[in-house]
Amino acid sequence: MNSDVMDRLWKWAGNTRRDHKRRGFRVRIHRAEIYDMAVEAMKTGCYFCGCKLVPTKSGDSQCTLPNQVSLDVVNPKHRVLEKGNCRVICCSCNRGRMHMSEADYVAKCLRVVENMMG
Ligand SMILES: [Zn+2]
Repeated sequence: MNSDVMDRLWKWAGNTRRDHKRRGFRVRIHRAEIYDMAVEAMKTGCYFCGCKLVPTKSGDSQCTLPNQVSLDVVNPKHRVLEKGNCRVICCSCNRGRMHMSEADYVAKCLRVVENMMG
């Protein structure tokens, strides 16, 4: 991973942390921990769809590309941003899942496939 990518991930980690705080989450995770999760996710791909993740353009936390890194809160009802309740996934899976549980999102994806391939 080159230094430009690392720099953008570091900026993104700070921005997404701040954005979650603004949205009313109690933030109990350090910027460095979010950054480490992003570095790991860049190697493994999106937890849901497996796509190869890309860093944000300038460290911005806004989703502009489908495969861009995005911080997913596993259980948003808890309103706590902490290790174990968040992960780095792609923007399209994060937006597509919204507040659905993992199982509901997977079921929804299957319905899309069945409906479109029908
Ligand atoms: Zn994905």
